[in-house]
Amino acid sequence: MLAAPQVSAFLPPRRILMGPGPSDVYPEVLAAQARPTVGHLDPLFVGMMDEVKSLLQYAFQTANPMTVALSAPGSAGMEACFVNLVEPGEKVIVCRNGVFGERMRQNVVRLGAVPVLVDSPWGQPVDPDAVESALKANPDARFLAFVHAETSTGALSDAKTLCALAKSHGCLSIVDAVTSLGGVELRVDEWGVDAVYSGSQKCLSCVPGLSPLSFSPAAVDKLQARQSPVPSWFLDQTLVMAYWGGGKRSYHHTAPVNTLYALHESLRQLAGEGLEAAWQRHRDMHLILRDGLEKLGLKFVVDAAARLPQLNAVYIPEGIDDAAARNRLLQEYNLEIGGGLGDLAGKAWRIGLMGYGARRENVALCLKALESVLK
Ligand SMILES: *Cc1c(COP(=O)(O)O)cnc(C)c1O
Repeated sequence: MLAAPQVSAFLPPRRILMGPGPSDVYPEVLAAQARPTVGHLDPLFVGMMDEVKSLLQYAFQTANPMTVALSAPGSAGMEACFVNLVEPGEKVIVCRNGVFGERMRQNVVRLGAVPVLVDSPWGQPVDPDAVESALKANPDARFLAFVHAETSTGALSDAKTLCALAKSHGCLSIVDAVTSLGGVELRVDEWGVDAVYSGSQKCLSCVPGLSPLSFSPAAVDKLQARQSPVPSWFLDQTLVMAYWGGGKRSYHHTAPVNTLYALHESLRQLAGEGLEAAWQRHRDMHLILRDGLEKLGLKFVVDAAARLPQLNAVYIPEGIDDAAARNRLLQEYNLEIGGGLGDLAGKAWRIGLMGYGARRENVALCLKALESVLK
């Protein structure tokens, strides 16, 4: 028999999370998560799930009945869009301007579908002209997939224009809104987004582990017209729909009950503030942070026109040790910022201003801490 390990309870410090996610969680959300667990088919819980759905429809600005939160992180939301909608042999135009566009490509390849890449340099938004050329050159393409807010670089792409292009060429759009939802303008119905997914731990300031997802009626039609079954059992939305879809709920999997309390509360906070007010707050905090960072001599990776307010990528100055500097921020200030990913590893820092984290005191702390570390 193995001896029982002697460990103490884990008591995490209270960090200030200003990286690429998870972000600072609303205190009300942490409190909500600690409430008593009820059964996931309890009528009161089912009623709360209905509220989560209408709150998600508000956050996405959609009337799509197929709007749910997957019991898994944002990466599962990405995979759910591809496994449900894309069938073997189908062509998908994939825009790649950072880490997450490349992951979309990998999803397409694993399904035996055919990716057509539209590459943009890291730090730049997706180029609508290049997308239009690809759509014209590939009239048999069925989908256009892109990342709205590229968290690896801090670039914001023009989702409205890209979705309109997809529609005018008979393609369904698949949009990664993991970092955009709640942080910048996103209007799913008005812009004609067909499949969109997000994550709980970025601008929603909820705990990690859930992925909001919404399919337009056209995406649901595509799903229902599939020739082959969805190759993933867990992510098959034809099964999940029965669980979320009003009327009588039946067992699909055990919902992460307390995590859904947390999402309910974070979406309630967002609705209380108002979506447009939240977008404006992210912009306002970004501008204060930007002025301070520029005073410290730091240069942004992304041009002002395509900068995400919620993800500020700046080049690390010459002579500063990336790991040592971030370690000092963590040890001396309890402050987490993100390092660079992929092409930007070791070259840039990513400073998040997401959700509840987009506050004046966080901006002030970050600037003060960076000033001392850069000296
Ligand atoms: C964080 C992120 C993901 C992945 O979400 P996880 O919750 O980490 O699985 C996908 N896309 C973008 C743009 C992200 O920022």
